[in-house]
Amino acid sequence: MRNADWISDCGLPIVDWMWDCVQSGIRNSQSAIHNQIRNPPSEIRNTLTAIVPGSTIGVLGGGQLGRMFAMAARRLGYRVHTFAPEHDTPTGQIADVEVNASYDDVDAVGRFAKSVDVVTFEFENVSKAAADAAEAHAIVRPNGHALAVAQHRIREKMFVADLGIGVAPFAAVRTGDDLDRALSTVGCPAVLKTAAFGYDGKGQVKISALSEAAAAWDAIGKREAILEAFVDLDREISVIGARGVGGEWSHFGPIENAHVRHILDVSVAPADVSIAIAAQAVDATRRVMDALEFIGLLCVEFFVTRDNRLLVNELAPRPHNSGHLTFDACRTSQFEQQLRAICGLPLGSPEMLQPAAAMANLLGDLWQGGEPNWSAALAFPDVKLHLYGKNDPRPGRKMGHLTALAATRDEARARVVQARAALMS
Ligand code: AMP
Repeated sequence: MRNADWISDCGLPIVDWMWDCVQSGIRNSQSAIHNQIRNPPSEIRNTLTAIVPGSTIGVLGGGQLGRMFAMAARRLGYRVHTFAPEHDTPTGQIADVEVNASYDDVDAVGRFAKSVDVVTFEFENVSKAAADAAEAHAIVRPNGHALAVAQHRIREKMFVADLGIGVAPFAAVRTGDDLDRALSTVGCPAVLKTAAFGYDGKGQVKISALSEAAAAWDAIGKREAILEAFVDLDREISVIGARGVGGEWSHFGPIENAHVRHILDVSVAPADVSIAIAAQAVDATRRVMDALEFIGLLCVEFFVTRDNRLLVNELAPRPHNSGHLTFDACRTSQFEQQLRAICGLPLGSPEMLQPAAAMANLLGDLWQGGEPNWSAALAFPDVKLHLYGKNDPRPGRKMGHLTALAATRDEARARVVQARAALMS
């Protein structure tokens, strides 16, 4: 990077700090300037100091995203500590240290943050108090504000809409009367979603007629919610952006995502969309990340409508299920990219190793007839099996996934779907 770019990317605080150092040298002595340069204020330290291999990364959350992140981090020689309420988590099985406490135990979160060099997230439903407790003791990437926006559907939609990026018509709902009013502006059919703590279609109800409003309000527990117009979907795509400490940027995608019962079923890269839609999705992702001053990995999920409009569905401030295929398909996986971004290191190449790749999720339903036939799936020599170390295969629970690379999307998709079917043979 040229010097002038370096200064403008790091921003004004750096310039102010450097000017202060010079002034202090003029006023005082050479040793004063040395002292000041050696002890920059925390915001400068956060910007300048790379967190190098051998350092310790703290991951809030213990699921499969943290597990694959921990694998990437350990391969690069980092130590990993994970914080989760449950014991023997998918992340904990790979991490050096697993701390078990509630996310609401802010003292425990603070102690955890003190013991690591940087804190990151593998899921977004960490309270503001917990994020603040971590920020009081460590560098936290992404920042708490980005987390607060992404974890609350009303804030998220307003933030995206304020940037001039397309979203489905929506209205905030806090009471039953609000819902009636929202239905008259948004229209039917619509989807009522809890504002917080929803995932994989949980906390969501479709409303097809006004007469269903009261039942829908009951069904989501009369909690703060968002009403969204039901979108006439052509397909769903995602872009996973990585943004480093100096604003440098890279992305995976768009990736195309097919859902079954609201849960991601199969992802295929690259998405089968026009160049214009792909460019719009990538540009929107970058704008969201820049506006949030985001450091780390952010996935933006989009709807492509039948009349070829692009609408943001939601933001996930962490690696994403649709990016699991990058582990095998790209020079740098989403997990390694997250590590590089939060550590202030150069981003890696997201280039794909073959023209197409696909990923099929393995849900707990596959265990209903007994242990899946692993040998049958592993007999597909071009298919990779990933399991998350979970020992309670409940229906709908994500237990692992399969990936395949191929010359075309259809071939890659067919291979993971065939290998998954073989698990049931
Ligand atoms: P979400 O948890 O918001 O990502 O929703 C899960 C899935 O439900 C999405 O991936 C879509 O397949 C579907 N969905 C959610 N919101 C809408 C909407 N407003 N219109 C149509 N389908 C939706």
